[in-house]
Order: sequence, then structure tokens, then C-alpha cells
Amino acid sequence: MSNATPGADEQFCSSCGEVIKKEAEICTECGVRQSSAGASGSGSKDKTSAALLAIFLGGLGAHHFYLGNTGRGIIYLVFSWTFIPLLVGLIEGIIYLTKSEDEFQRQYA
Ligand SMILES: [Zn+2]
Repeated sequence: MSNATPGADEQFCSSCGEVIKKEAEICTECGVRQSSAGASGSGSKDKTSAALLAIFLGGLGAHHFYLGNTGRGIIYLVFSWTFIPLLVGLIEGIIYLTKSEDEFQRQYA
């Protein structure tokens, strides 16, 4: 932790709180990637990542784990042998992609 105040072109690291350059993607102190680069707020989930996880690993509930719906992810995992989650995941991935970034953030993130 540092008690320095950030300048106009600086920001606090979202992980360790160290003052780093605003355009820095990765904290020089702790190496954590900064999420402020995108237009959406901090801690938001990436729509494309969620969609890709749903399409390729949807049968294992990967996208639900990613979005923080652990309970639902476990259900997918348990029923993965039925291939139903695979199908549902694929559809969910496509739905994610058709949603606007705003809509997605409001609904899932
Ligand atoms: Zn840091």
C-alpha cells in the first residue's frame, strides 16, 4: 500500500492499491491486469469471454462459473453427461453475443 495520491495520468491499482499509470494495462507492482481499460465499470464480466466459454465449455457450465453463478454451473457439470447443458450452453452463448454490451452487463455481470 502506498499513501501517494494519483496524478492526472495515474490511477490506483484495482488489486494492490499502488499508484500506476492510467494507460498501464498491468500493474507494475503486483502484475494484476486493470479492468478500467474498457468502457464498463470495474469488476464487470466480459461478454465475449462468457459467450466463448458457453459455446466451447458450456456443457461444463464454464460460463456460469465465469459469471459467478456457481450453483448453476454445478448443475451443468452434474448433468454434462446428458449433453443437454452442452446444447443449452451453446444457445446461451449465442444469446450473449446478440445482446448489447449494456444489456449483458445489466443482466449478467
Ligand atoms: Zn497492483
